[in-house]
Amino acid sequence: MAASIPDPTAAIRAFRGEILDFTGDPATLGDRAHRHHPDGILVVRDGRVAALGPASEVLPSLPADAVMTDYRGKLILPGFVDTHVHYAQTDIIASYGAQLLDWLDRYTFPAESRFADPEHAREVAEFFVDELLRNGTTTAMVFATTHATSVDAIFEAAEARSMRLIAGKVLMDRNVPEQVRDTADSGYEDSARLIARWHNRHRLAYAVTPRFAPTSTERQLELCGRLLDLNPGVFLQSHVAENLSEVAWVAALFPWSRSYLDVYDRYRLLRERAVFAHCIHLDHEDRQRMAATGAAMSFCPTSNLFLGSGLFDAQAARDHGVRVGIGTDVGGGTSLSMLRTLDEAYKVCQLAGNRLSPWRAFYLATLGGAASLYLDDRIGNFDPGKEADFVVLDPAATPLMARRVARTETLAEKLFALMILGDDRAVHATHVLGEARYRQTAA
Ligand SMILES: [Zn+2]
Repeated sequence: MAASIPDPTAAIRAFRGEILDFTGDPATLGDRAHRHHPDGILVVRDGRVAALGPASEVLPSLPADAVMTDYRGKLILPGFVDTHVHYAQTDIIASYGAQLLDWLDRYTFPAESRFADPEHAREVAEFFVDELLRNGTTTAMVFATTHATSVDAIFEAAEARSMRLIAGKVLMDRNVPEQVRDTADSGYEDSARLIARWHNRHRLAYAVTPRFAPTSTERQLELCGRLLDLNPGVFLQSHVAENLSEVAWVAALFPWSRSYLDVYDRYRLLRERAVFAHCIHLDHEDRQRMAATGAAMSFCPTSNLFLGSGLFDAQAARDHGVRVGIGTDVGGGTSLSMLRTLDEAYKVCQLAGNRLSPWRAFYLATLGGAASLYLDDRIGNFDPGKEADFVVLDPAATPLMARRVARTETLAEKLFALMILGDDRAVHATHVLGEARYRQTAA
């Protein structure tokens, strides 16, 4: 039982350390929203959570052949959920000096056109999913490119690591260069084929992926609704109301629309399992429609600051009861680290005049993100039966973090220091279905 190296063939594995997870939203439940075991044990059987509790209670009941991994001194949390990211933009992260529409023309479309080459797609996909794991992210909702093979590449990379991942082929049939353009019909047919190939295969799920309203004709948006109707359980991902020039462009392209969001509403794309990145320039009615339809917002703070797009109103989303998750939005976003992203989320909330507590921040990065994707029955916390995806964080990963954390008195203070000062260096290990898929090696 005391073996230090986990045996992958062991039926039962146990992980000991400080354990934190959430059972609900701290914004409404307060202290009752989280479970905290300063010296806890997470028991995993066949990749699923079998038990969670204080070491003093769990240890006596552990079977003799259980294999124990000792993470004492570290903090075990459910794996992070990144609800909006573009794997094909890995290579253009940190590109200088553009706002959204110029950014797409100057950097995004040239980078994405390279994914017509399956070999390039495969190489980037492998790198990208390993980066997710290196940052403690175990589930992501991912944009591929217009090319069907780019979808195969990202799903194959996720499947090889047993990861839960949602992705889809980008649909763009107008206002983009030919290399990244499809047609309403070819986009529909490619999507249908990819759904048949990948949706619900192992832990993978498909998302119908119109990039955003300006690059799809009304016919293409209509066909998106049809794909969703014909394939219950399939997701939808897109962007909305990120940038004011974009909002003005949508108003010109769809003169009948009440608002940008209304364009998607017209084509019945607001629904459960639909995730819209950004949601900055929305009004009261838009937020009401999102809440009423069960669609979710992905809050992408590093991207919104980097591209100068605006400030997400987390309070308004909460007041309207809209589902919200956190997105890194790389490459418009500047980091795949959810810790870095929570840091920026806190600052965006400060500028917007409201406050993001460390409890709510870590909730949004785990169970809240899972709930925004309607996956909270499978991932997001350590309820028995859930898939055992988790991240092991080192709150003393750097000299400064060690010094700051040594002076904290409460878990809230420690979590806050972790999200403000932490990054990939604070990720000690990442486990998928109980198995270590990333371990930090000593520097
Ligand atoms: Zn995006």
